[in-house]
Amino acid sequence: MALTITGLSKTYPNGVRALKNLSLTIGNLMFGLLGPNGAGKSSLMRTVATLQDADSGSIDLDGLNVLTQKDEVRKILGYLPQEFGVYPKLSATDMLQHLAVMKGVTNKTERKQMVEAILNQTNLWDVRKKALSTYSGGMKQRFGIAQALLANPKLIIVDEPTAGLDPAERNRFLNLLSSIGSKVTVILSTHIVEDVRELCPRMAIISNGELLLEGAPASALESLRGKIWSKVAATDDELRALEAAFHVISTHLIGGLHEVRVYADSSPGDDFRPVDSSLEDVYFLNLTRQARN
Ligand code: ADP
Repeated sequence: MALTITGLSKTYPNGVRALKNLSLTIGNLMFGLLGPNGAGKSSLMRTVATLQDADSGSIDLDGLNVLTQKDEVRKILGYLPQEFGVYPKLSATDMLQHLAVMKGVTNKTERKQMVEAILNQTNLWDVRKKALSTYSGGMKQRFGIAQALLANPKLIIVDEPTAGLDPAERNRFLNLLSSIGSKVTVILSTHIVEDVRELCPRMAIISNGELLLEGAPASALESLRGKIWSKVAATDDELRALEAAFHVISTHLIGGLHEVRVYADSSPGDDFRPVDSSLEDVYFLNLTRQARN
């Protein structure tokens, strides 16, 4: 599977430029699309999922022109949107059966087998007869994956899937994505760095409709080795002074004090200590670089 996005731009009627000449290539393996709220992730994912048009640019999915061959693309693409529908009083089994018919799986035996396999795969077998409206957040998200799998897709797009899940549900959901990602290309769009760190061998960071970084999290981390320094600011004034003097990429409150993380090629001063770089540092470095430019 290869998805090639070239020079994609989108401006909404209200003047917001959600995508600015964005180019990105996504191959096999689970791909993390990371960016803050408002970065343009959903705009990009909706366009790839054929649900909205771009102003210019092109998207190629294994030789298909995504912007014009929408019906063909929909046959090989599963999509779990950020806001996933209304949950009816129907059971998961009935709903999947219904959706499978709509997708053209007309053979009854084939449809039954397909639905049962998907219910097992998404760990919904035990609750398959319960009304979807009674499902927990995690179960709903797993049902969202179940419906996306119906098309037997080559590519699955999931948009902000772990927002609002409790830690156990999130874990279960990420495990499901990981098992699916070994067979099908999955694009995981998220603002949660941890999701990408845990799952994705490749990633991109986007912000303000622009691509800031594309590559393997491991090599992005490696490029920061020895360049992240930490210091505790005792007062708000000291924090402001540090922000003025150095490239501060993030501050965290620890026991009421501000731990400041600074990006610098060499030690910014004796009272800084070198720390291991994290994927969060990669993320905040790219966002703060864009903001400083
Ligand atoms: P993300 O998914 O990264 O949070 P979005 O693609 O949803 O980002 O939004 C990118 C920008 O486009 C934001 O400024 C958002 O407010 C704006 N936007 C998104 N959808 C619309 C729309 N339908 N009409 C107008 N502006 C929109």
